[in-house]
Amino acid sequence: MAFVAPAGTPISPITFAVSLARGLGSSAEIPLGEGLAAHAKHRRYWLVSTGRAAMVLALQAMRDLSKDPQRVEVIVPAYTCYSVPASVIKAGLKPRLCDVDPTSLSLDPEALRKFDFSRVLAVVTANLYGIPNHLQSIEAIARERGVWMLDDSAQALGATHEGRPVGGFGDVGLYSFDKGKNITSLEGGALVASHPELSAALDRRHAALTPASATRTATTIVKLAAYATLLHPTLYGVVRKLPGLGLGRTVYDETYPVERYSGTLAGFAGTLLKRLPTLTRGRQDNALALQAALSKVPGVRLIDVPANSQPAYARYPFLMTDPSRRAAVLEKLEAAGIGATASYPSALNDVPEVARHLPAVDLEMPGARQVANAIVTLPTHAYSPADLPARVAAAMRGSVA
Ligand SMILES: *Cc1c(COP(=O)(O)O)cnc(C)c1O
Repeated sequence: MAFVAPAGTPISPITFAVSLARGLGSSAEIPLGEGLAAHAKHRRYWLVSTGRAAMVLALQAMRDLSKDPQRVEVIVPAYTCYSVPASVIKAGLKPRLCDVDPTSLSLDPEALRKFDFSRVLAVVTANLYGIPNHLQSIEAIARERGVWMLDDSAQALGATHEGRPVGGFGDVGLYSFDKGKNITSLEGGALVASHPELSAALDRRHAALTPASATRTATTIVKLAAYATLLHPTLYGVVRKLPGLGLGRTVYDETYPVERYSGTLAGFAGTLLKRLPTLTRGRQDNALALQAALSKVPGVRLIDVPANSQPAYARYPFLMTDPSRRAAVLEKLEAAGIGATASYPSALNDVPEVARHLPAVDLEMPGARQVANAIVTLPTHAYSPADLPARVAAAMRGSVA
């Protein structure tokens, strides 16, 4: 049966061929890097093997510049991708959690203001599903406390807040080109920044990285061709159950390599970057249609998007007012051929590999736990059928006991 994948970027055979041809040319990575820096209104860019590897590099560069050896803590939102605390730990630093506001999913500026910053090196945002966090407030707090801010825009390339691009707040912006992100080459990450000393530290760290392996790049290109073909609902319905693909699983992992991004894959992603405005508009239109349908469904709590924000909606999230109904709702949606997910299964304080690095005060994160127990995400990509909102609403009403 046809099945709408939870997230993705449709890539037609022509786009695939054009993008790959661009990737195989010389200096193929320049359009992506310069395009991202211009987009974020930053001066410089660094391309890395994955978003999580890029985060390791950024945190190490910040540490290189720190004159205070006590500053080893990195504040991360208590509900975000598990790769974020994994990158903090891999960089040799200590994760600290700040709770999220479940109504907006953002790092809670009130909670952040109360933090003891005496050992803090940096604060990291999340912008999950492409919805901007309260970035202006977070940036003001980071500046006031004299800590670095990393604007994690792995899911929010194309979003804006207060007229500024997400990924352009704070000192360093981060983008990812993994399979569920706003544009994809299946793997890849980027940093953008302007700060002179930080840029020099990033140059040193980046120059020391090993180049991407040619065999790994060749394997990824084969997988990309499969991805472009199989994302279509007709085929996704067939392949999604294959165990080897590990689709939809969230696992904690610190063992990934930190290498340069393949020039070929960066060239591929650079071609997709030109289509970003179209891709983002399509996702925004689909998200608004889902919002209109869900606003009439009992038991749904919509996310409050911060004022003056244009989300990029890599997915469309909402919360169940009664979390005990979520499993039944997900089952109904799945039966209707819709790639609905429960997103990351736990708040980070409930992930054992993270919790053992945390002080006791970080082990209670009620906002993050509420999100983890109640969130549902829906697809917004261009393969979403026009009747998706109606089908979602019908499936959800059908799940009421
Ligand atoms: C995906 C993601 C990352 C890591 O990016 P990868 O390219 O998958 O390593 C970091 N932060 C957030 C919020 C993400 O969604």
